[in-house]
Amino acid sequence: RAKAAGGNRYELADADSNARVIARHSLTNGLPSALEKGEFFIEYQPLVRLADGTVRGAEALVRWLHPVHGVLGPDQFIPLAEDTGLIVPLGRWVLEQAARQAYEWRGSAQAGGEPLRVNVNLSPCQLSHPTLVSDTVAVLENSGLCPSALCLEVTENDLIGADESALRPLRQLADLGVDIALDDFGTGYSNLSYLRRLPVSTLKLDRSFTRGMQRAPADPVDVKIVEGIVSLAHTLDLAVTVEGVETAVQAEHLRVLGCDTAQGWYYARPGPPERLHTLALADAS
Ligand code: C2E
Ligand code: MG
Ligand code: MG
Ligand code: MG
Repeated sequence: RAKAAGGNRYELADADSNARVIARHSLTNGLPSALEKGEFFIEYQPLVRLADGTVRGAEALVRWLHPVHGVLGPDQFIPLAEDTGLIVPLGRWVLEQAARQAYEWRGSAQAGGEPLRVNVNLSPCQLSHPTLVSDTVAVLENSGLCPSALCLEVTENDLIGADESALRPLRQLADLGVDIALDDFGTGYSNLSYLRRLPVSTLKLDRSFTRGMQRAPADPVDVKIVEGIVSLAHTLDLAVTVEGVETAVQAEHLRVLGCDTAQGWYYARPGPPERLHTLALADAS
């Protein structure tokens, strides 16, 4: 396609990929020391119960305040951290911070008495790391956080082809009471029968499925798909969380379709942890 577009396009593409190589190089150099230098920080995005609009907890999303490039999103550095192995200490740090934070939130427990929960993303390197279970247990003990207030998110693709021994650490964590969510659900493997043998308790439906519901009338095919997934999930005793809810229309559709929890800009962008107190207290009053 680039060829058909002519010489100019070629040069543009080259300059662009050069810039990418240079950027990647400069990020890779800064990455190993960024953790010690305290350049990472975490934003929290609320998870809202669709039935009554109350805040259930939040997902921890890591950011890098780069001394030259400013704030970088995880898509810009998590792949590098995975390639360089930094993801293991970085992931452990995120887990520690998030657990400590969620323990602090317990003061703003909901009227129903349920503590606010925290969701933490795991990368495939962490999943296969021998200390995943012991690290997580240590984090829970040190923070005082109850295992059921922690949800670990793994993506569908990272579990494809995983055999029983690869799933054992997740199963051990699930047995301890930690929730496991299947992130970006629907973007990977399509054979749903494998869901039955995974130790997951929640499906996080990828936002590509709910985009067609942002405005009325909703895309009828998207409605059918979500309806089907919700019914399958509930049959298997799994909760459904939807990502990327950006409008009131969408939230209402998803509530009617029986989705349990929602996350998205309509409720709140990712932000500082203190905001969770404010949002949760506003619910309780
Ligand atoms: P994810 O786990 O699927 O997280 C949801 C992403 O969707 C976040 O992007 C969030 O900011 C974004 N988002 C939330 N609501 C909306 C919305 O209404 N509309 C749109 N368009 N986007 C929305 P973010 O923060 O850039 O994170 C990207 C990905 O990076 C995450 O996807 C997750 O896979 C990964 N990630 C983030 N933090 C960590 C971490 O601590 N460890 C690991 N391994 N991965 C992480
Ligand atoms: Mg996630
Ligand atoms: Mg997701
Ligand atoms: Mg996603």
